[in-house]
Amino acid sequence: MTTDHAPILARLAELRADDLPVHGGRTMAYVYDSGLDGLEELANAAQAAFAGVNGLDMTAFPSVVELENDLVRRATALLGGTAGTFTSGGTESCLLAVLTARQHARRARGITAPELVLPETAHAAFHKAAELFGLTVVSVPVDPETFRVRPADVAAALTERTALVVVSAPSYAHGVIDPVAEVAAEAARRGVLCHVDACIGGWYLGHLKRADEGAHIPEFGLTVPGVTSLSVDLHKYGYTAKGASLLLFEDAELRRHGWFAHASWPGYPVVNSTLQGTKSAGPLAAAWAVTEQVGTDGYTALSTRVHRTTLALADGIERIDGLRLLARPEASLIAVASDDPELDVFVVADEMRGSGWYLQPQPAFGASPANLHLTVTAAVADEETVRLLLDAWEKAVARARAAGPVRIDPAIVEAAGALDPDALTPEEVEIALALAGVGEGGALPERMAPVLAVLQALPPRLSERLLPEVIGRLYRVR
Ligand SMILES: *Cc1c(COP(=O)(O)O)cnc(C)c1O
Repeated sequence: MTTDHAPILARLAELRADDLPVHGGRTMAYVYDSGLDGLEELANAAQAAFAGVNGLDMTAFPSVVELENDLVRRATALLGGTAGTFTSGGTESCLLAVLTARQHARRARGITAPELVLPETAHAAFHKAAELFGLTVVSVPVDPETFRVRPADVAAALTERTALVVVSAPSYAHGVIDPVAEVAAEAARRGVLCHVDACIGGWYLGHLKRADEGAHIPEFGLTVPGVTSLSVDLHKYGYTAKGASLLLFEDAELRRHGWFAHASWPGYPVVNSTLQGTKSAGPLAAAWAVTEQVGTDGYTALSTRVHRTTLALADGIERIDGLRLLARPEASLIAVASDDPELDVFVVADEMRGSGWYLQPQPAFGASPANLHLTVTAAVADEETVRLLLDAWEKAVARARAAGPVRIDPAIVEAAGALDPDALTPEEVEIALALAGVGEGGALPERMAPVLAVLQALPPRLSERLLPEVIGRLYRVR
């Protein structure tokens, strides 16, 4: 076997060239860049040192217990609670929160047909959890002006079968904080568990709250009476390597309900604290190293810079003719819609991408119109970058206005509305995808606005039937 790794590494580098950049702040979704010198090198070194360690058996690898306890201690000092579990990411934390609540409802309350009360703005991961773990979702509308759930609406949705109610701090789509204290109090009054999804905002808001700039932030953690669990992602505003999140609990007695133990087989005795079996301790070690290095004061400084930048960007965007913010940002997320029918925000996104900025399109849903989502991280938190970004916005808006909005044939939408998503034939799938502009070859079109325009005009259940077909084409191996 050759020891020359150069061609293999060169191929990997070549593949990466087509991806969005993960540094520099120009990719305003999916990636989180602290902008701090040397931090990624530290994370990589820690990851490499622990890559082969298996978190499956904490008795064989006691280092993982130490690292996890340190991280949970750091997180509970910030956000309350007395116990926690390190997971592979926000989705796994949300899944485990729901699983824990379902088991608790079964064992402690005898509930066999559990319900999960979700504001319309709750993250998709909770719908995934309901589907995987057999809970019925009770969806609660949000205030169409503020996009926050109303405590009275949640109260009305609670039943004898409610296993868990979820609130967000903040919600991903609009970046606003649900009324945590009011909802948690109502849940507690009814003996129902309450989870705060602080996946994206917990680390950021928790640290910002320590600074003068964050004095106005309401309590949202496990310090709030009635809150029983909270998820916070380290691979977002902890700026750690991907594969790192924490699920915190009010106490270890609740946490145990989500753990899986098995002794009824001929193999080793099993205790799994997460959904995975064998798991690399690499992301855990990277998260530990990065949080040790940055520290509480370091994160507070990063949050403060991001806060100021978010406000500056929000003000600048609002001043651009034709754009409006869906909500005043309460964290580091901005959702930008258009109030001009001739200005299509998805065309703006394509134009922005052409000039090197990735903004995330969010199709219209319920009271929420089509909009663009910006996740502000520390890497854009300097005046020069903000100026460049606002300048790019202004130019993209001008070009999008000149190009005009994507118009779709109402007849197509009507025909699509008549389709039964569960009964589509492969031929009908082909026709539907061709109408959406997705070709047979599998490659996605250069400009996404026409695809998104069709997508948001379809009933969500039809989109849910078609989206895996689109992605499935990318994964065809022949
Ligand atoms: C990111 C996020 C999640 C899911 O986390 P992943 O790490 O992407 O799996 C859940 N809830 C909120 C509010 C999020 O922002």
